[in-house]
Amino acid sequence: MPDISLLFVALVTANLCIKLWLNRRQANSVLRHQASVPNAFAGVINLGAHQKAAAYTCAKTRLNQWALLMDTFWLLILTLGGGINILYAFAVQISGNETGLITGLVFLMTLGLLSGLVDLPLSIYRQFNLEARFGFNRMTPRLFVTDLLRNAMVSLIIALPLLSLILWLLDLATPMSWLWAWLGWMAFNALLLFIYPVVIAPLFNKFTPMSDSAHKQKLDALLHRCGFSAAGLFVMDGSKRSAHANAYFTGFGKNRRIVLFDTLINQLSPEQLEAVLAHEIGHYQCKHLQKRLVLMALISAGLLWSLFQLLHAPWFYTALGVDVASPATALALFSLAMPLCLLPLTPLSNALSRKHEYEADAYAAQQSSAQELIDALITMYRENAATLTPDTLYSLFHDSHPPATLRIGHLQGQSGHHA
Ligand SMILES: [Zn+2]
Repeated sequence: MPDISLLFVALVTANLCIKLWLNRRQANSVLRHQASVPNAFAGVINLGAHQKAAAYTCAKTRLNQWALLMDTFWLLILTLGGGINILYAFAVQISGNETGLITGLVFLMTLGLLSGLVDLPLSIYRQFNLEARFGFNRMTPRLFVTDLLRNAMVSLIIALPLLSLILWLLDLATPMSWLWAWLGWMAFNALLLFIYPVVIAPLFNKFTPMSDSAHKQKLDALLHRCGFSAAGLFVMDGSKRSAHANAYFTGFGKNRRIVLFDTLINQLSPEQLEAVLAHEIGHYQCKHLQKRLVLMALISAGLLWSLFQLLHAPWFYTALGVDVASPATALALFSLAMPLCLLPLTPLSNALSRKHEYEADAYAAQQSSAQELIDALITMYRENAATLTPDTLYSLFHDSHPPATLRIGHLQGQSGHHA
């Protein structure tokens, strides 16, 4: 094995060890605190609910451990195990061409399909065993299969033009090609964000305007007060798949919308729901989506530039056990190996996201009520069986939202200023 391959193996091993270690820390932290409800939540969350959250979190970390081992195994099979060489030879046979766009596309699609199949057993287990055991699964096997097919179809429609463009530019490989690829990538993402709420999301869920109720009047008044178009509020039939409840803000321009899961509406009082809606409007008012897009633009410029540099570096292919240097194999190797190098950056991305959560919470405290948002969050932690005692380090790497205690503590600091 060339020395440079050993470096790759070392990188893979380091990644796996760090992730397994974080996972273990999370399970230990939850187990250590499961005997009693943390002081900040005593009286609002009972011991039974607290222990259900502990059991659920531990079950998830156990499954995650298997997923990590599987992913690592699959990565090594594909690279040093010669998997990519075999898949590329297969694509050459299908297309009857040693190189070229079609060969590249066939290769990447086969790779995507196989990777999806490798993930399948664990997703089936997750949905129909783990989620079901804790009372969260609402999916029928039939819906699971149609989701899978619909997902594959949508990914194919989205990926084909984008991959074709990038492969074509990689093939041209002029000094400025990476910049064109970046412009194409960004335009594509902006378009996707614009059409996602109205074209893609409705393929999977029904979105209906809020029906008349005690909730509706309160929410309309809030929307009016905050200058968010009332036409942009939708209820989603999340209960079709899961008992987990949530709310989110997405899209921009005339397609911007706030989505409340039907499960959430059933769990919260009108006052609590108003506070949650105010939080989502906060994301819109503070332009968080735009800020994330700018960050993504910077990161993807760096990544695409690196990809175009590695394209003609023989060591890149040798290190990863690949015989054929082509735009398609370069793209595949890059997307397989790059996440290994990006792991140290995930806490930074999560830190930005948490900052945005605090800002949206502060907006909600101002426009609605901090106390109602606290009550809503506690209900959501309880009903989703979310742990109140995550490990700090694990959380830095995995959680885009602040841990329960910190988030509630922040809001308590704000509830003094407002009624
Ligand atoms: Zn948020």
